Amino acid sequence: MRVLVIGAGIGGLCLAQGLLRAGIDVRIYEREASVDSRYQGFRIGLGGPGLAGLLECLPPRLHPLLEASTGELSGERRVVDHRLAELARLDPMHGGMATDRHVLRHLLLSGLGERIEFGKRLVEYTELADGTVRAVFADGSTAEGDLLVGADGVGSPVRRQLLPHAEVATVGGGGVLGRTPLTERFAALVPGYGTLVRGPEANILLGKMDFRRPPHLAAAELAPDVVLPQTGSYLRWAMLLPDNTRLVAGDWAATRDVLLELLDGWHPDLVELVRHSDVVNSSPLTIGYAKPVPHWGTRPVTLLGDAVHVMPPSGGQGANTAFRDAALLCRMLTAVHRGEAELLPAVERYEREMLDYGFAAVADSVAKLPTFAAR
Ligand SMILES: Cc1cc2nc3c(=O)[nH]c(=O)nc-3n(C[C@H](O)[C@H](O)[C@H](O)COP(=O)(O)OP(=O)(O)OC[C@H]3O[C@@H](n4cnc5c(N)ncnc54)[C@H](O)[C@@H]3O)c2cc1C
Repeated sequence: MRVLVIGAGIGGLCLAQGLLRAGIDVRIYEREASVDSRYQGFRIGLGGPGLAGLLECLPPRLHPLLEASTGELSGERRVVDHRLAELARLDPMHGGMATDRHVLRHLLLSGLGERIEFGKRLVEYTELADGTVRAVFADGSTAEGDLLVGADGVGSPVRRQLLPHAEVATVGGGGVLGRTPLTERFAALVPGYGTLVRGPEANILLGKMDFRRPPHLAAAELAPDVVLPQTGSYLRWAMLLPDNTRLVAGDWAATRDVLLELLDGWHPDLVELVRHSDVVNSSPLTIGYAKPVPHWGTRPVTLLGDAVHVMPPSGGQGANTAFRDAALLCRMLTAVHRGEAELLPAVERYEREMLDYGFAAVADSVAKLPTFAAR
């Protein structure tokens, strides 16, 4: 059995690791020219079934490196006003892991070798008469397999072809994702799991990515065959604004000036946090969520992660759900590989279960949007 995975985001790579572990022939195709083409580094909080799914797929020898190259994600959740006066303290969270998406992608590439090809943008697929499927790429090349998995994110061309009726709604207003190098001053803003700043015209969600050890040094010591990027700890902040008309995509300096104007009268630590934001890793953000889709007739083509159930970041569940998908699909395909199940029924079981918890997570994240969004 050969599985074609479209997209080397964290969900597709996690699936590839799990399939490789199970001895299944897997090929991954990513449209970007390399893993470093766009930085795309932001903090992702993992826990529960998502973290369990990642650990299930990742080879055990890399678990110590995962632990060393991530950070603590637990403790109190504070709500403060724009002058940093405490408004509320929510129940503490325990047992999570703060990861950086860019570092995690590098870790998930380990051992995939020539199974992954960059610069391969899928344009369409064709189901063949013998039940297999052919992927067609923008450079004219093709690949054939028994199952094609669209792990190609929110704009998924696989979803557009498989489920042309599926809709992704966009949340109104403007979103901004910022990243500022961590200093003692900024670390004090997030003493525990996270801090929500409720301001007059915008709310800011603050989260700390404080690496236990510099990822590249941890890799050199714990798994010298793995190359992790050299990156420092940071504070991730996400801001939702009533409108996005003044945000300038592709020009962070101009966007930052708009935000600084808006923060007039806010606590100086928050103003400085925005002023010192990192130009490369901060940008306006479009927030979308998938409308529920009923199960479709199973084909040798399926979907995973944001490609099927993209959700707002307010619930902190998108990546967790993608890892849960990866582990579940991997278990189903392992049964097929061992001769214990047929391919299409196994894929259907995955799809039905994934649609249940996936769209429950979308609904939960949408419900949490008002606390995240500006009042
Ligand atoms: C600000 C922010 C904070 C977040 N915080 C959290 C959090 O704390 N916890 C959490 O669980 N989730 C969080 N998320 C959500 C999480 O980042 C996503 O759910 C997750 O990255 C989805 O992974 P994926 O692999 O499905 O898709 P992606 O990571 O989007 O990967 C898709 C890949 O497919 C590739 N691709 C696209 N089209 C093609 C094509 N035609 N051919 C080939 N390749 C293609 C893309 O280049 C990309 O590499 C957050 C998201 C944001 C924006």
